Amino acid sequence: MHRFDYLEPATLSEAVALLAQHGARARVLAGGTDLLTALKEGWERPDWVLSIGRVADLRYIRYDSRDGLRIGALATVREVETSPLVRKHYPVLAEAAGTLASVQIRNLATLAGNVCRASPSGDTLPALLVLDAEARLVGPSGERRVPLARFFVGPGRTVMEPTELLAELVLPPPRPGTGAHYIKHSLRRAMDLAVVGVAALVALDGETCVDARIALGAVAPTPIRALAAEEQLVGRPITPDAAEAAADLAQAAARPITDVRGTAPYRRRMVHVLTRRCILRAAELAQSQGRLP
Ligand SMILES: Cc1cc2nc3c(=O)[nH]c(=O)nc-3n(C[C@H](O)[C@H](O)[C@H](O)COP(=O)(O)OP(=O)(O)OC[C@H]3O[C@@H](n4cnc5c(N)ncnc54)[C@H](O)[C@@H]3O)c2cc1C
Repeated sequence: MHRFDYLEPATLSEAVALLAQHGARARVLAGGTDLLTALKEGWERPDWVLSIGRVADLRYIRYDSRDGLRIGALATVREVETSPLVRKHYPVLAEAAGTLASVQIRNLATLAGNVCRASPSGDTLPALLVLDAEARLVGPSGERRVPLARFFVGPGRTVMEPTELLAELVLPPPRPGTGAHYIKHSLRRAMDLAVVGVAALVALDGETCVDARIALGAVAPTPIRALAAEEQLVGRPITPDAAEAAADLAQAAARPITDVRGTAPYRRRMVHVLTRRCILRAAELAQSQGRLP
C-alpha cells in the first residue's frame, strides 16, 4: 500500500491550518469508507492523510425553525437516518440516507463524505439537492457557502479547493405543505450503488403546486436538477397527466452512460418511470401533511 503521513488535528482551526500547509498533497479522512478503498487500490496517492475524526465540534445535527437544519461534517449517515429532527422536518433525507450501503457502512460513513466524494450515484445527493442544501466550506481565507446545485462539477469533482474543508451542510427550513420522496433503483436491495436515483419535492397550496424540485442521480456526470420538469409542475394540480409530462422532461434532461449496472437507454427509461412515481408520492405526502397521526 502507498505510504503517507497521518495527521490528527483536534480542532477545526488546526485542521484548516494543516490543510493550508499541505494542500493538494493531503486528503481529508472522515469515515474512510471511500478514501480507504482509494488508498488501498492506489487510486489516491497523497503524502498526507488528515483525519478529522477527533474534531469533536464537527459532530452534530441541529435544527431551529428560523435557520433550518445544520449537519456537521462528522455526522454519520446512520445518525442522519435515525435523527428525530431529520425524520420530522426533512423525512426525505432520512429516507435517502437509509438506502446507502448497509447499517455497518452507514455507521462509519459521513453525510459530508458522501457529498465530497461527489459520485454521480451518491444516494444522499438527490435528496440534498431537492432540499436546497448548501455546503459551508472553510479554508485559509475564511469561509464561503456554496449551494449544492453549484457544488458538483464532474464525477468525483467539486468546486472545493484542496485547502478547503466542508464544515457543515445547511438546509433551509421546510415550507409548509411540502412532501418529498426518494427512490433508489439498484440491482440488489442492499450494498449496491444506484442504477438510477430520483428525488422529488412538491409544495402544494390547496390543490395547486406552488413549488417543485426534481433531482436525478447516476444519469449524468454529476447529480442534476431537472429544471424543465420542475417548471412543468408549478401552477397546476399534480395529476397523473402532469406527472407524466414532467417525467418526459426529466427523461430528456438525463445524460446517462452505459456501464456494468445498466445501459443508457434503460437508465433513461427508468428516469421516466421513477420520476412519475416520485412526483405522485411526493404530492400524496404533501396533501397528507398535517393529517398524520
Ligand atoms: C461497501 C460499500 C458500499 C457503499 N455503498 C454506497 C451506496 O449504496 N450509496 C452511496 O452513495 N455510497 C456508497 N458507498 C460510498 C461511501 O460509503 C459514501 O460515499 C460515504 O458517505 C463516504 O463518507 P466517508 O465519511 O466514509 O468519506 P471518506 O471516505 O472519509 O471521504 C470521502 C471523500 O471525501 C473527502 N472528504 C470527506 N469528508 C470531507 C470534509 N468534511 N471536507 C472535505 N473533504 C472531505 C475525502 O477526502 C475523500 O475524498 C459505499 C462504500 C462502500 C465501502
